[in-house]
Amino acid sequence: MYNHCQNPKCHHYTTTDRVRGPKGNKVYVTRNATTYFGIACTLHCLNEFWHHNRQAIKRAIPELPKQSRPFNTYLNENNEWVDINKAVVPEMR
Ligand SMILES: [Zn+2]
Repeated sequence: MYNHCQNPKCHHYTTTDRVRGPKGNKVYVTRNATTYFGIACTLHCLNEFWHHNRQAIKRAIPELPKQSRPFNTYLNENNEWVDINKAVVPEMR
């Protein structure tokens, strides 16, 4: 999704794998966003990303109303509520 970790404070963390640049002019850089949905480098950075962008996320994604599920049911592949006690167990192949 993104090339670099989207936590604006990623480079604030002092780790050896963030160090780049020639001797005497070293800097800490943002890590790659290889995990965590391609957004962040660690769960900690992902959490800070959500926190930093919480208002924009809330504006972009409308709130879901409270939802419910009939008691003892699950949703099948035809989008129907099926009684758990009448569930068909798929045959072993
Ligand atoms: Zn990060």
